[in-house]
Amino acid sequence: MKIDSVRFLADIDELGTIGYREGQGITRLALTDEDVRARDWVQGRMEEAGLDVRVDAAGNVIGRLEGADPAGKTMVIGSHLDTVPQGGKYDGSLGVLSGLECARNLIEADVKLPWNLEIINFTDEEGHHFAGTFGSRAMMGSAAREELYGVKETGAPSLADSFQRVGLDPTRIDEARRDPSEFRGYLEMHVEQGGTLEERGIDIGIVTGIVGIYRYVIEVEGQANHAGTTPMASRKDALVAAAPVFGLLPEWARARSDEMVATIGDVTVSPGAMNIIPGHCRFTVELRSIDAEDMARVRDRLDTWLDDNIRSALMKTVYEKDGVYLDDVLMSHIARGSRRSGVESVAMPSGAGHDAQSFAPYVPTAMIFVPSRGGISHSPDEYTDPEHLVNGVRVMMHTLLSLAEAEGQED
Ligand SMILES: [Zn+2]
Repeated sequence: MKIDSVRFLADIDELGTIGYREGQGITRLALTDEDVRARDWVQGRMEEAGLDVRVDAAGNVIGRLEGADPAGKTMVIGSHLDTVPQGGKYDGSLGVLSGLECARNLIEADVKLPWNLEIINFTDEEGHHFAGTFGSRAMMGSAAREELYGVKETGAPSLADSFQRVGLDPTRIDEARRDPSEFRGYLEMHVEQGGTLEERGIDIGIVTGIVGIYRYVIEVEGQANHAGTTPMASRKDALVAAAPVFGLLPEWARARSDEMVATIGDVTVSPGAMNIIPGHCRFTVELRSIDAEDMARVRDRLDTWLDDNIRSALMKTVYEKDGVYLDDVLMSHIARGSRRSGVESVAMPSGAGHDAQSFAPYVPTAMIFVPSRGGISHSPDEYTDPEHLVNGVRVMMHTLLSLAEAEGQED
């Protein structure tokens, strides 16, 4: 089956005009007028293709194509059409449009998959209102109700405000929730947002997992005093007390796994003058890894070290979001789909979050990465070569067909 690369690329370009401003890239913040135009546009495209379209209680736009057994399971191809301020035209859009192109090809070739297919544009992946991946988490039942009413800064609209503005009822959000057992799997094509594929000259990344993030703030209390008249033996220097951690933390992370990263990205001392002993030291700790156990161990080691060595230390959790491993079976079909498309693929982790992360704990999930030029994203300079875009959607199509073959396709 051949995908229509001209049609697919034209879709990307047309969608890329919505919210576009010369020199400023694309701004389609979730549920603003620009995003609503993109949502309406994709809904129109889905209907044109012959999909049954509905908008769920979380505002997710869902285009459905029935398979050989309409009462059977459903495969999702999803991502998001909202962007960050001054974003690019590929992040998110590729995931939705690759699914749409696959659905159109299946309809045109009159091929029925063993499962239903749903192409989904998820609401507010970029976290314009509060936290990211809202729509996909609402579908999996892992979005908290309070997220509807929280705001990022005073005066900014809450999700509930924006829901009402576009005619959605925030009190009905639970209706977006679906039973994970109704899904056969979740697939998402996305730009890599890093430079690995380009550097290595490889067309397709098969994502092995999405890293989790643990963040903490540590406060150390000492005593500010005169830097000239206070003898070394009688000082309570908060920075000196904290300093060993700056060297130890990276070592603990490295000893735990090759893949884990640990960063102390922000350190402040106060009062903060050349001639005053630091009376207070505040620093941040961020851990990232696919493996939650690795992160928990390093966190506990840090906690214990602080307890044993600095009596005044206070460690506050900013948040702990676990990483996820993606599905081996779906990954193997992406590898096969790549071979059938005549392109090279490599397994790699994702350092950024995606809607796939919301599904992965509950539904077999996989992701296809295509190269980002210069590793740049969330920028007007975000770019992926048309050849790579077409490769990506081809691999998506062949992944579906390969899996369908393995699971008894009827046509
Ligand atoms: Zn994205």
